[in-house]
Amino acid sequence: MAQDLYEILEVDKNASDDEIKRAFRKKARTLHPDVNKSPDAEDRFKELNEAYDVLSDPSKRNHYDRYGTVPGAASGPGAGYVDLEDLFGGGFGMGDLFSSFFGGGMGRSANVRREGRDMGVGLTLTLEEVAAGVKKEIIYDRLAPCPECDGTGLGEDGEEITCPECDGTGRVVTVQHTFLGDMQSATTCPNCQGSGVVIENPCPECDGQGRVPDRQRLSVEIPAGIHDGQQLRMSGYGEAGIRGAESGDLIVTCRIEPNEYFRREGNDLHVTTVISMVQAALGADIEIDGIFEDEVVQIKVPKGCQYGQVVKVKNHGMPKYGSDARGDLYAHIEVEIPKRLSKRERELLEELAEEMGEDFAEARTPLKKLRNMFN
Ligand SMILES: [Zn+2]
Ligand SMILES: [Zn+2]
Repeated sequence: MAQDLYEILEVDKNASDDEIKRAFRKKARTLHPDVNKSPDAEDRFKELNEAYDVLSDPSKRNHYDRYGTVPGAASGPGAGYVDLEDLFGGGFGMGDLFSSFFGGGMGRSANVRREGRDMGVGLTLTLEEVAAGVKKEIIYDRLAPCPECDGTGLGEDGEEITCPECDGTGRVVTVQHTFLGDMQSATTCPNCQGSGVVIENPCPECDGQGRVPDRQRLSVEIPAGIHDGQQLRMSGYGEAGIRGAESGDLIVTCRIEPNEYFRREGNDLHVTTVISMVQAALGADIEIDGIFEDEVVQIKVPKGCQYGQVVKVKNHGMPKYGSDARGDLYAHIEVEIPKRLSKRERELLEELAEEMGEDFAEARTPLKKLRNMFN
């Protein structure tokens, strides 16, 4: 490290983490090789990243302050970029990010996109949450309206003026002299990136873009009965537009975790219910927990209920999306055969077998006999 890291970032020795982050963002925007075409831009961008890598990490910074060296610097310069996606938020690549900072397209397209783009996030929900409906907080990174200038991009005494380079057309005509004669071609105005306007005295926080990378917290009301993969569109919560242009939307894709007990099919719920062999033979009214907290569902097991039989309980499934109605619950009955019998129980069962005219003496185990009896 030939140069002082604080000098590279142009911050004070006792700058706060926030100030360091801000300084880095600001310099990164001007030094990124996609943007800055000067020959040393890439090296300076690397240098900037290395300085930020150290100063943004409290333990590395501490080490640097004490010893003036970079911990683990053996790997030398170019040891790796700071994860810019991390800094500016995941979900979009660095190229995207920088092109969005600069109005998109950097000479690739004449039409400058000023509106913010839609963004997507995933949200995982439990089946219980889906049944009841839930309010969830989503934390995500986006280009948000700049708080410093309220998204206008204007600094103190700043104003938007017609770009003098292109007279507001957003395009400039260049003439190339070729052996076939002069050839004219129109390209995007480099001064205003095609927007036709430039900012005089831009906001220093956002460099006149009216938006800055920021971490957002958004409370989202998830309606009951939503389905796996269903999407909610949060209007205006996507990427902010340039200088107050319309923001994109945030699209929340709901994912529902598998439930330990209930299996959902459409609006119906399926559940496995274990009963005793006596309940299966005689029939029984049993209670199981429903999908709602404190909900108790009564299941009427008919006499002579068979293993695998399905008992339907109306209106105890999932709530239907956008309605008060509910689907049905299907209890899949399993019959538990006792693994151990007391002497008395065994006697009674043998008596029962006799009564039912079954020759249990040939059976090797009472268990096998019982299976035969009830199946
Ligand atoms: Zn601003
Ligand atoms: Zn222009």
